[in-house]
Amino acid sequence: MEFTLSEDIERFRDRVRNFSLREFPVYSKRSDEMEEFPEELFRKAVASDILHPEDIWKFIIALEEMSSVNPNLGISMAVPFFGNEILRFYGTQKQISDLYEPVIHGKKKMGLALTEPGGGSDLANLKTTAVREGDHYVISGSKMFITNGDIADFLLVLARTENGVKPQQSHSLFVLNPHAAGVKISKIQGKLGVRGTDTTIISLDGVHVDSSDMIGKPGMGFYYVMNFFDVSRTYVAALSVGIAEGIIRRLMAFYSDPENKMEERHQFAIADLAARVESARMLTYEAVNSIHTGRTDPVLTSEAKAFASEVAVDSSRLGVLLTGTYGMESDMEQFFRDAKIMEIWEGSSEIERLVIYRFLRSKYGKKVSRAF
Ligand SMILES: Cc1cc2nc3c(=O)[nH]c(=O)nc-3n(C[C@H](O)[C@H](O)[C@H](O)COP(=O)(O)OP(=O)(O)OC[C@H]3O[C@@H](n4cnc5c(N)ncnc54)[C@H](O)[C@@H]3O)c2cc1C
Repeated sequence: MEFTLSEDIERFRDRVRNFSLREFPVYSKRSDEMEEFPEELFRKAVASDILHPEDIWKFIIALEEMSSVNPNLGISMAVPFFGNEILRFYGTQKQISDLYEPVIHGKKKMGLALTEPGGGSDLANLKTTAVREGDHYVISGSKMFITNGDIADFLLVLARTENGVKPQQSHSLFVLNPHAAGVKISKIQGKLGVRGTDTTIISLDGVHVDSSDMIGKPGMGFYYVMNFFDVSRTYVAALSVGIAEGIIRRLMAFYSDPENKMEERHQFAIADLAARVESARMLTYEAVNSIHTGRTDPVLTSEAKAFASEVAVDSSRLGVLLTGTYGMESDMEQFFRDAKIMEIWEGSSEIERLVIYRFLRSKYGKKVSRAF
């Protein structure tokens, strides 16, 4: 399958690249060392019109380009929009005008609180509850590793509302004011990578939310989140492709210096990496195309996310390995740390493989014919 991106998108790619090359070096060190969300950079990116979460192709290309220059900052520019698609797909008119519109225009930040201390992979069995009392719900529980907890204007939180049904049908999503009584947010520090993103623990102790703050229908929260992942996993894939492309650029620059001896085995390693990066890019673009044309394919999305994230991690390891002490000192060290999260969030590599294998089971059936 061939993807020719329009001239418009290619021009947009150049614009994002130029912005990142010009602005990121100013914020790179501070954001990583101080573990600080680069608010000023985010403001500049919004003003420069390079962040378009409502347009999947533009968003994907921006993520790819930004993370090829600096993964931590590229990811930091993306997370304020985390979960906006849920509002777009399932929000009421009021939720769209009060929450979704300001978020996609960079005027508000949001976050999505799913994971709990007991684990994030098994979302159907989360423990946080929301109990109905008249015209409001009372939420109790605790959420872990929540991005933007400290900086978001609001969060979407997944909590159990239904009893006596399958676990998948028991959760609902609510808009949560992080400043409401009963919400306690503490920042997690000392993360391996993506240190410009704000990661938090959120404890919810009898927090009141209005019943009009529910997103969509009761008991549908788990399914809404799964549908969101079908889209958001392509974002992780695009960030991963950017990381791997960034490593290729750095290796080519390193070996263009005659001081650094290039042997045939180095050329082979870089050539292998280039083929894997291009495969990851094509898989990602194919998954994005399925979403863009209204034929979202969860298996393709999981394949793109699992494959691209592993290419990102492998490339960053190779980058440091081939360049030795230079790699440890240069920004490749940051690439190495920032890449790892790609294999974990939005469904770990194991979870993506379960999605892919379950599809193969349904495609081939339990008893597979030997008439190949
Ligand atoms: C920097 C950062 C930011 C994050 N931001 C957010 C956020 O904004 N919102 C949010 O809700 N979460 C967020 N997360 C959490 C993230 O989504 C989870 O870490 C992820 O879903 C994995 O969950 P877990 O860490 O609890 O691991 P677990 O679910 O406990 O899994 C541990 C290990 O077991 C494996 N495993 C689990 N189940 C199976 C299975 N059935 N078969 C095979 N292997 C299995 C997993 O692959 C993993 O390797 C963030 C995490 C990090 C590190």
